[in-house]
Amino acid sequence: MTEPVNYDNIDTKDYEEGYLGDAIRFAMKRDGKRFWAGDNISDYLFEGDKERLINEATEAFERVLDTLLIDRENDPNSQGTARRLAKMYFNEIMAGRYEPEPDATAFPNDSADRYEGMLVVRSELRSMCSHHHQPVVGVAYIGILAANKLIGLSKYTRIAQWCARRGTLQEELCIDIAREIQRATDSENVGVYIQATHGCCENRGIMAHSSLTQTTVLRGLFKSDAGVKKEFMDNIKLQQDFAPR
Ligand SMILES: [Zn+2]
Repeated sequence: MTEPVNYDNIDTKDYEEGYLGDAIRFAMKRDGKRFWAGDNISDYLFEGDKERLINEATEAFERVLDTLLIDRENDPNSQGTARRLAKMYFNEIMAGRYEPEPDATAFPNDSADRYEGMLVVRSELRSMCSHHHQPVVGVAYIGILAANKLIGLSKYTRIAQWCARRGTLQEELCIDIAREIQRATDSENVGVYIQATHGCCENRGIMAHSSLTQTTVLRGLFKSDAGVKKEFMDNIKLQQDFAPR
């Protein structure tokens, strides 16, 4: 975690009268903080900022609807759409950019009869591609070889969803989940396999209705030990038999 943002160099007058989004972007640029669609920027948000940003995004979406020549004054279905879009971006489909990492309380796994096997968790994912802001829907299979720390089973999915609820590429999402699981569990041995469908390929472009994209990221023994890798892949097949997607 980085230090809380220092707004000292930002002209207070600009901040009070101008857009908060501009002030925060200024601060991130000043600090060299990357703020791509898949990056978490929760360190730069304070109490109440999200509500103010939702108001600013509502105004911006109103301008987009106006430019699309949609009558948001008289069409009852379009009247609240700008605010609905703004809230949806901040609170739902991109929530993982603005919320801090979920707490993942770790329990020691260091007794004489500690668990040393593989653990595979199936996590349903909802994400969004950075290129087209179309839904990415799928499942991540997260495998680890238990290390000195264990986290609650639901935490794997919470962490995966926190990574997913941003603008992402599936390849990057797979890497992000592996990194965050490694961090939360202190395990060097992590595998993440994602299979997902992409709205940008289904609803537009090539209009491929049954295309499926698979990505795999392997770390430690998942990468270097053929037996561990095979056990992970076999476990995924067993999971798919149990719950076909
Ligand atoms: Zn796309």
